[in-house]
Amino acid sequence: MSEGPSILFLKNKLQRYKGKTVSKVSGKAEVDGSLFTNSVLIDIQTYGKNFLFVFKDFFVAIEVRLVGNVLVNKRKKIAASFSFHFEENEINFYDSEISVKKGKPSDCFNFKIDISKAEFDADFILNEWQTNHFEESIGEALLNQNILAGVGPIIRTETLYHAKIHPDSLIKSIPEKKLIFLLKMVQDYAEEFLTLLKTDSVEKNALIFEKKNCPKDKTPIIIETVGSTKTYVCPKCQKLFK
Ligand SMILES: [Zn+2]
Repeated sequence: MSEGPSILFLKNKLQRYKGKTVSKVSGKAEVDGSLFTNSVLIDIQTYGKNFLFVFKDFFVAIEVRLVGNVLVNKRKKIAASFSFHFEENEINFYDSEISVKKGKPSDCFNFKIDISKAEFDADFILNEWQTNHFEESIGEALLNQNILAGVGPIIRTETLYHAKIHPDSLIKSIPEKKLIFLLKMVQDYAEEFLTLLKTDSVEKNALIFEKKNCPKDKTPIIIETVGSTKTYVCPKCQKLFK
């Protein structure tokens, strides 16, 4: 599963295609290809774990499950979900969800919930958690892209460890101060994550993600499955609020 900052990092590398004319699109996804012929790619943005390719009256949202599923001027043996073709280049997306939407990204998405956007609004998310998701575990809520866009397994593991909260804790039982701290951690760590990607050192700098022992008390780290994704927990440092 991908993380929002990884998508943002890759998006920044694709900026050279901004302003280029798309000669055609192809792929398995059911998309009206005639929309794109000779259209100028105005901008490339992200929203959570989606790439947004913006054209004059519409945009394409592409959700990739793994960053390795995006290839520039290279192909896998399997058919691509979607490909942009330019005069001399192509960008291929594999195992991805594609949707074409009318209007601008800001008409469709709430940027307040994107952990990597300047518009990120922790109060808005706190209110959403406490009003509509209070019976849920924090581990599940963190990965719900409709409430908080851009959190993946590494960000979830590391920020819950920093905030000393066990992923199975119920939102209604976690003190508000802790939730506020956790949201601050999410925003700060998303920024740090993007910086670490530049030196390919996210995994190296992670405190407990895919690690054997807690760096603080040497307690063996436990692997738990929350939702359908693995998370790492220090049973000594992280308190269970039930
Ligand atoms: Zn510990």
